[in-house]
Amino acid sequence: MNELTHFAENQLVSVLTTQPIDRLLDYKAPEGGCFLGAFVEVPLGPRRVIGVVWGAGKGDYDIVKIRAVHRVLDVAPMGADMREFLIRAGEYTITPMATMLRLATRAPGLGDPLSMRKIYRIGEGVPDRETPARKKVIQALADYGELAFTLRELAEMAGVSSSVVKGLVAQGVVDEEDSPRDLPYGKLDYTLKGKELSKDQANAVDKLKEGLQSKVYGTTLLKGVTGSGKTEVYLEAVAECIKNGRQALVLLPEIALTSQFLDRVRERFGAMPAEWHSGVTQTERRRCWRMVGQGNAELIVGARSALFLPFRDLGLIVVDEEHDTSYKQEDGVLYNARDMSVLRAAIGGAQVVLSSATPSLESWANVEAGKYQRLDLTSRFGTAVLPSMNAIDMRAENLPSNRWISEKLQSEINTRIGKGEQSLLFINRRGFAPITLCRACGHQIGCDQCDARMVEHRFQRRLMCHQCGETKAIPETCPDCGAEDKLAAVGPGVERLGEEAVALFPDARIAVLSSDLFGSARAMKAQIETLAKGEADIIIGTQLVAKGHNFPLLTLVGVIDADLGLQGSDLRAAERTFQLMRQVSGRAGRAEKQGAAFLQTYQPEHPVIRAVLSGDEEGFWAAEANARKSTGVPPYGRLAGIVLSSPDENEIHMLGNDMARRTGPLAAIGAQVYGPAPAPIARVRGRHRLRLLVKCEKNRPLQAALQKWVAQFNVPKSTRLSIDIDPQSFY
Ligand code: ADP
Ligand code: ZN
Repeated sequence: MNELTHFAENQLVSVLTTQPIDRLLDYKAPEGGCFLGAFVEVPLGPRRVIGVVWGAGKGDYDIVKIRAVHRVLDVAPMGADMREFLIRAGEYTITPMATMLRLATRAPGLGDPLSMRKIYRIGEGVPDRETPARKKVIQALADYGELAFTLRELAEMAGVSSSVVKGLVAQGVVDEEDSPRDLPYGKLDYTLKGKELSKDQANAVDKLKEGLQSKVYGTTLLKGVTGSGKTEVYLEAVAECIKNGRQALVLLPEIALTSQFLDRVRERFGAMPAEWHSGVTQTERRRCWRMVGQGNAELIVGARSALFLPFRDLGLIVVDEEHDTSYKQEDGVLYNARDMSVLRAAIGGAQVVLSSATPSLESWANVEAGKYQRLDLTSRFGTAVLPSMNAIDMRAENLPSNRWISEKLQSEINTRIGKGEQSLLFINRRGFAPITLCRACGHQIGCDQCDARMVEHRFQRRLMCHQCGETKAIPETCPDCGAEDKLAAVGPGVERLGEEAVALFPDARIAVLSSDLFGSARAMKAQIETLAKGEADIIIGTQLVAKGHNFPLLTLVGVIDADLGLQGSDLRAAERTFQLMRQVSGRAGRAEKQGAAFLQTYQPEHPVIRAVLSGDEEGFWAAEANARKSTGVPPYGRLAGIVLSSPDENEIHMLGNDMARRTGPLAAIGAQVYGPAPAPIARVRGRHRLRLLVKCEKNRPLQAALQKWVAQFNVPKSTRLSIDIDPQSFY
């Protein structure tokens, strides 16, 4: 069976639906028959649901009861690659196929008939009278040759009312036609000249082109500091891919970064790519999904879920900032878009480019193992040089307990202000203060629904739970002992640092950047752009500013608490801290000016801090790799996290203990089970949470064993059991 397999009317087909049924359903092919992979609407009980023709019918169901496919939807059938991808991704993440199909059909109005609209273009007729308004319309259409426009577009372009256009239609001067509402995306002109490449860049581009021309699978780690020209390199790979007639996908970790990237695409190819992320309108989503399926979108720029678009012929996937944790989907289907990109490419004979200044240990290890090719861009583009790295030993600074900016850092900032340069203060904590404490009784204000402290957000005058998003007013008295005026904010957040900066630098222009301070990604982008132009002397920000934005005037980065990420038991704590510190530091000195980074730390001797300061990356990775090897954890062993959650604490304890006792199927593959233990956040949204961790050697059939293991237990209705393969977060 292949793409062209056709089932004649009344032949039995099996259909995968988006409904939670754990098997395929048999139907009769509709009038006119249907192709393998066709999107269809089928009757299910009293309803009609969407599905995909998955193969020939099995005929194991009473033939008289079998109903017919209601209709074939007006969208391109799902290709064989995509079906295989859904199956393998589903097996890997232990996700039912119906759920996988939902992931692949997340566009509105798929079942709707193809909607049409009127478009207008130049006709043959001659007008009876030539008024100035009519002339404008004719001129506008003449300027654009064969192109057609909607009534509104045309009227706007000509600067006339739509009745003028309608009048010309009546006389045949302008033709009115029906056209599908979802228009193809503009052609990208890959023949336009890109930038003159440096030697490193040209070499990298050549290697990537070779891979693309071979049309077989391959993954490349493209490594280079921020500003070394990685984007420029993978844009050339995109050009090659389009030239070969295949589609390209660029995944970005943050929607806030897309617009910068879109500008560069337009500059390079003279047209805009298709976009797929949460900031895109429903209409555009539908258009994108359909056009990708028809092969009428050459380049798609998107968030992780773009990987599940119905590509006709995907030749290249770029994962920008491949180390970014946001590629892991943390609810619903728990997949890692970076890893699934590699799977998707392997199935379809595509190339993957993993781009990063600070690659994940996973990718580093895959290069070491010879599975990925590695290309390095060794210097920053143009004259910009890497910032100098310095530690500020906070033990010697003796700051009072409600201050966080050391004198050393303060004087460095003053020097920059004097020179008209910008400084960035980085702290990875939103809000004003992480703890609100009663000084009379010691009570800390927590969330009613979660085992988490409420974080004060002073701009919003509320306390907020960062687990569930619940907010409440800041109380006047202690909710526990009732004492008045005893509540104190403890510890710094980005807002509080803003306050300190205002006090220390009264004449400076200070801006606080935190994702929760903006209504929309657009507003945030606008703000970042004005800041980058020099609207602030000091920028105070969270993780947000560590990512990709370009601040040409920025020459100083101060990390308020370099030790923050080193606390906690996360197996990637060292890796994350190392990456984050290097990313943030990399913000300094992107243009011609030399930059400097200062890390405030209480443990300057810590190996991670020392590695950040010395810039000895290879040394750091080798040490980190050894540490992980010796404990058999990823990427040198396999992990799965199991979270049991329920409003009933007893219920999950019984189940958890039972699971820890009856581990037969896991023991059979040599896997160990740890726990159950209360999750680090033992209650979220009123549900108690218990964790188990399963560890085994690489190349063992972990998923199959997990499924057998879990199948032994009766999971009560109110309990949720989730399995997270390769967990990234351990909360
Ligand atoms: P990265 O993706 O590694 O951060 P970019 O590709 O964004 O780096 O390049 C950094 C800056 O240098 C950008 O402004 C880019 O336009 C410029 N640049 C990169 N390569 C070239 C080149 N070959 N010629 C001219 N400018 C370049
Ligand atoms: Zn909460």
